[in-house]
Amino acid sequence: MNYFITGAAGFLGSALANRLVVEGHHVRGLDDLSTGDPTKLSPDVFFTRGDVNDRPKLWSMLQDIDCIFHLAARVSVPESILYPRDYNHVNVGGTVTLMEAARDVGVKRVVFASSGAVYGNQKIASLKEDAEPKPRSPYAVSKLSAEYYIRSIGALANVDTVCLRIFNAFGPGQHIPAAHAPVIPSFLRQALRNGTIVINGDGGQTRDYVYVDDVVHAMISAATTPKIDNMIFNIGSGQETSIKNLLKAVLDVTGGRPQVVYNNKADGGVRHMRADINLAANKLSYKPSMDLEAGLRTTLERDQILNNPRQNET
Ligand code: NAD
Repeated sequence: MNYFITGAAGFLGSALANRLVVEGHHVRGLDDLSTGDPTKLSPDVFFTRGDVNDRPKLWSMLQDIDCIFHLAARVSVPESILYPRDYNHVNVGGTVTLMEAARDVGVKRVVFASSGAVYGNQKIASLKEDAEPKPRSPYAVSKLSAEYYIRSIGALANVDTVCLRIFNAFGPGQHIPAAHAPVIPSFLRQALRNGTIVINGDGGQTRDYVYVDDVVHAMISAATTPKIDNMIFNIGSGQETSIKNLLKAVLDVTGGRPQVVYNNKADGGVRHMRADINLAANKLSYKPSMDLEAGLRTTLERDQILNNPRQNET
């Protein structure tokens, strides 16, 4: 098959691209490298630097493509609160530009990396796809808006679409920005250097952490399973872990002794999250293979940034 991946140089995009070439597929990748790193990609991926809002580039790259994986996005919740216009431009505008191109070129299927963040705060922790979305941040609003555009344009133009609401993915190769780093790589890094881990609130807030390879398997199933047009699937581990328990697991696997500071600021985010993954299990044969502790150990073994002492000092 011929695949096109937006956000190909990112954490999930590069893992997906590298897996697809190992399976013998042709992969074209696009990324503006705002946070992505093309050195993570196999030389067999045909990579082009470019913006997901660049219409002519999309038109030329989409020729002969069977399926698009759309992952390009701005991905930080706190940053989206500061710059909602940028998030709308890339995450919503870029999606509409891509869907127009997919429609006009005649691509058969689009798989979209949506987010569990679209649920917001719900009364029950275990989230099913039919729960009414209550997005809180501009990031979550942008992912939900993108889902609506994808499903609308796809349904009207005979492009199959599948939206995957990914929960908190982690694993080797996750980008660690200076500000607003995702929780797992930042805890691992601070634990390895005996630095400082800051916990917002009481540490009782829970998330569903899912290992990168499980997300990649789900994305490939979403591209190849028949009769799932216009569907939405949760992709998580199906387990809920509090920040306190995540910290305990990080300390166990690293043996680190960082200083832990509770800042008692209400973190303002969603309190509890766990993906109900029954629909994905039934339709995509999705079965998470890595639990949190095994995933943390594998991340420690394989992550080049965490294992590079010079980068650990920054
Ligand atoms: P990432 O930041 O590593 O990947 C996003 C990539 O998009 C980056 O390489 C970035 O350079 C690229 N990009 C940003 N703006 C672009 C633009 N205008 N044009 C082209 N490329 C652009 O993040 P990730 O964790 O790999 O996330 C990939 C996708 O999965 C995102 O859409 C994200 O919203 C979604 N998602 C991720 C998670 C997670 O836990 N990692 C959870 C839910 C949803």
